[in-house]
Amino acid sequence: MKKHAIIPIFIPHEGCPNDCVFCNQKKITARAHAEENIDIDAIAKAYLSTLNNPRPEVIEMAMFGGSFTGIPIDRQNKYLSAAKRYKDEGLIDKIHLSTRPDYINEEILDNLMQYGVDVIELGVQSFDNEVLSLSNRGHDSSVVYKSCELIKSYGFTLGIQLMIGLPGDSLEKAIFSAMETVKLSPKIVRLYPTIVIEDTELLNMYKSGEYHALSLQEAVDRTKAMYKIIAKAGINIIRVGLKSSDIINENGEIYGGTFHPAFRQLVEGDIAKEEVEEQIAKLAEAELQQNPGTPEASKASPSSAKPKVRMSVFANSRSIGNAAGLSGINRKYFREKFPQIILSFKRDDSLKDYEYRVVKLD
Ligand code: SF4
Repeated sequence: MKKHAIIPIFIPHEGCPNDCVFCNQKKITARAHAEENIDIDAIAKAYLSTLNNPRPEVIEMAMFGGSFTGIPIDRQNKYLSAAKRYKDEGLIDKIHLSTRPDYINEEILDNLMQYGVDVIELGVQSFDNEVLSLSNRGHDSSVVYKSCELIKSYGFTLGIQLMIGLPGDSLEKAIFSAMETVKLSPKIVRLYPTIVIEDTELLNMYKSGEYHALSLQEAVDRTKAMYKIIAKAGINIIRVGLKSSDIINENGEIYGGTFHPAFRQLVEGDIAKEEVEEQIAKLAEAELQQNPGTPEASKASPSSAKPKVRMSVFANSRSIGNAAGLSGINRKYFREKFPQIILSFKRDDSLKDYEYRVVKLD
């Protein structure tokens, strides 16, 4: 049974006065010609008709696509009153929206409170002022801290969205952003590697050599470092990377190599690889001490000391794919790194998500 369902309402921020270098708002929302008046009833009914039988535990109506609290107040209220009607009737459970950190103040939050909004996600992107400035975000990080605290003080669920690889960003700054995020204790986080798309200032910067797009592996490495910090703090990382449906790619043009349709699996697979490898190495070391093998083998690394040891990697149904890696990439890596170990992958649903256990078989 589906536990959690989202009714996505795409609300483009036409006429956004900001000019973030990475943004082509029309493309990123995949609604280039969205009508000014979005028919929330029609969208909600269409989604709800697919969500009964059985009804998911939680249904959220989510206003995505722009900076919700930056659009004119009468339009905000029109959408919010429609959403509230569905919530009051018990057809949905939560109202969810995303906005910019500098579009938050008491007056705005009072209004959202009145319409029963539950979750507010902030497009923070980075906690580093140089990155914010080079990305032309139009505010510094002090606004982020203030807005996050204000949102929490009203009792809203706070979400933070971060981008990886913006101009001026680095692994250290990415880690800093992840650590600052943890300090603000949001309930949910999204991690988006930067993608260079058509009709953006970032593309001009990329073409002139002013901006160097991350390679896919760099994006995975930085995201992985952030993911580990945020996940360790118990924060729910609800999205890693864009889905292809998030991007209109009319001309087939995405520059740089950070887009991957299964980016999350790449990141989680890499984390699983590190954890599994550590356990295999420990077991191989213990095996070497118990059965030193030939003198030649003893001089070699633990991985070559004792041929044909059998081990199994256990993970639950949701995480076993990470252990093996996307398209079996981890499986191949372990086979090459530990040629003397015959490794099998087995499901154990008593384990938690992202918990991996390696056991040596007799
Ligand atoms: S990212 Fe948001 S705030 Fe920045 S230009 Fe695009 S729509 Fe406007």
